[in-house]
Amino acid sequence: MSGRSSGDLWERIEPLLLRVERPSRYLGCEWNAPGIAQGCTSVVLAYPDVYEIGISNLGLAILQEVVNDIEGASCERVYSPWIDMEREMRAEGIPLFSLETHRAVSTYDIFGISIPHELTYTNIINLLDLAGIPVHASDREEGPLVIGGGCGTANPEPLASFFDLFVLGEGEESLGSLVELVSRGKSQGWSRQKLLCEAGRLPGVYRPSDYEVDYSDDGLIEGIRPIDGAPERVRKREVDLEDWPYPRHPIVPFCEAVHDRINVEIFRGCTRGCRFCQAGMIYRPVRERSVDSVVAMVESLAGRTGHEEVALSSLSSTDYTMIEDVTKKVSAICGQRRMILSLPSLRMDGFSVEIASGLELGGRGSFTFAPEAGTERLRRVINKPISEKDIIDAVLCATRTGRRRIKLYFMIGLPTETDEDVEEIGRLVFRVRDAVRSDGMAPPTFNVSVSTFVPKPHTPFQWIRQETLESIERRQGILQANLRARGINLSWHDSRASTVESLLARGDRRLAAVVENAWSSGSRFDSWSEHFDYACWEKACEDAGTDPVFYLYRERERDEVFPWEHLDFGLDRDFLFKEYQDALEGKTSPDCRGGQCLECGVCDEQGSGLALEGIWSS
Ligand code: SF4
Repeated sequence: MSGRSSGDLWERIEPLLLRVERPSRYLGCEWNAPGIAQGCTSVVLAYPDVYEIGISNLGLAILQEVVNDIEGASCERVYSPWIDMEREMRAEGIPLFSLETHRAVSTYDIFGISIPHELTYTNIINLLDLAGIPVHASDREEGPLVIGGGCGTANPEPLASFFDLFVLGEGEESLGSLVELVSRGKSQGWSRQKLLCEAGRLPGVYRPSDYEVDYSDDGLIEGIRPIDGAPERVRKREVDLEDWPYPRHPIVPFCEAVHDRINVEIFRGCTRGCRFCQAGMIYRPVRERSVDSVVAMVESLAGRTGHEEVALSSLSSTDYTMIEDVTKKVSAICGQRRMILSLPSLRMDGFSVEIASGLELGGRGSFTFAPEAGTERLRRVINKPISEKDIIDAVLCATRTGRRRIKLYFMIGLPTETDEDVEEIGRLVFRVRDAVRSDGMAPPTFNVSVSTFVPKPHTPFQWIRQETLESIERRQGILQANLRARGINLSWHDSRASTVESLLARGDRRLAAVVENAWSSGSRFDSWSEHFDYACWEKACEDAGTDPVFYLYRERERDEVFPWEHLDFGLDRDFLFKEYQDALEGKTSPDCRGGQCLECGVCDEQGSGLALEGIWSS
């Protein structure tokens, strides 16, 4: 085993570190960073954003350990070099390098890139280019297999020409199978072509070049054809959390990360059925980790990291069926070790707030709630039917436990939204504040954050058009006029960035030219407001001959073939369409945990009844 390489590359990297911001981003050698075995099948995993964000990504941390636990395999990391480091690397001709051994990424067998969201696409191309790897898969004759994973694979089509393969769904098993295949291919001297053909037949692995897309004269997709015996559809993979108690040795960074804490997933999936939420759809069914496993993980990770906070994470933590038991046991560990226990995603109900309030000592920190919409009517449309009473009760409960900051998240541009719905966001915040005063307390500070709704693939809203920029900006004006008061801080995401996100979210392969144009004109870190350049994206569309209106502002017909039609995340199309129709009529659908299966398709196709037997009956 070896730590940092003493090779030529490190000697050339080291002097650059004196000239860049936060050199610790490129050092490696953090606490728990793995020792790397030499002479084996080598993997490097990338997160396409800066170190402080990437090091907090749980998926990447899990997969790195999973690969390092495979005999004969090693796995290292790389994150997007910040602007200053990229400049220095390009000036000195230094290629993208791994953090553990500072080896050139182009020398590995597998280059796995996480795709967290659409505004990282230009960073992804930049990673390939900095590595000296041809950005188009068709131009690669050697070098690592470039594999994409993460929630961006729900529709990876705008990136299809840049990747050799994608892993759909959860990567624990798929990445392991790919590593084993590459090891076999190396030992048997397979060609790159043979290796890619074999990889494209593994369950959960999608090889975009195995599919051809036909377009009609009016630009719609006529069909997506598998070639050379590829399956009609590629099905995502999912794992049983009990079999994968990772991470076991999370890396502790030298510098401050966005999440400096132990992160233990208590379950995956969600069946609440919020119609805008892609994660809630594509990660079904719900799979819980047992209380004993959670407790064992917390105990062991507390000893191995020294973190002062434990987060029990999931899409909606208080939906965990044994939440009271697990918080009691984990709180006891936290008490002994002087750690804080937090539940990062809370439902807006008294039960959730009471549970969460009891965790942190002395009313530290803030509470975050996401009513999403200003009126009960619109909350029914999105199938998040929280009453105003629920919202007020949750905030009262939080302030009674001493919270002095309440964060409230809303969206604008939701389907069927009217100006009245937007005005009500302001009125709702004031009514909540008045309720706190009537309860005899000084109101906390309200941080109201408003984002722009983006319709996403594999959700009931995949058929709907994006709201225009003009309309969103007008609604932001309504918010500004309605939410001016001391103690209320209003902020919103740049709606132009949401427009680019929307363009790419439901885009097809033809958008590759737009992404490449934006990248070659200098777009990087598009999710960072100080770096986002809308004009650059407008020009990228113009130069590619792409009409964004076709992708953004067009309601889809019921039977339109979507670019992601061949990618099977388990969801039944008729279920999604019915949910869409019910949304337009303001009808809600129950959480199937109550026992009423809505036939979304996930459990039926699995045939395992995993969710129903394991959780619903408990
Ligand atoms: S198939 Fe039925 S029980 Fe299973 S997740 Fe979907 S709605 Fe729920």
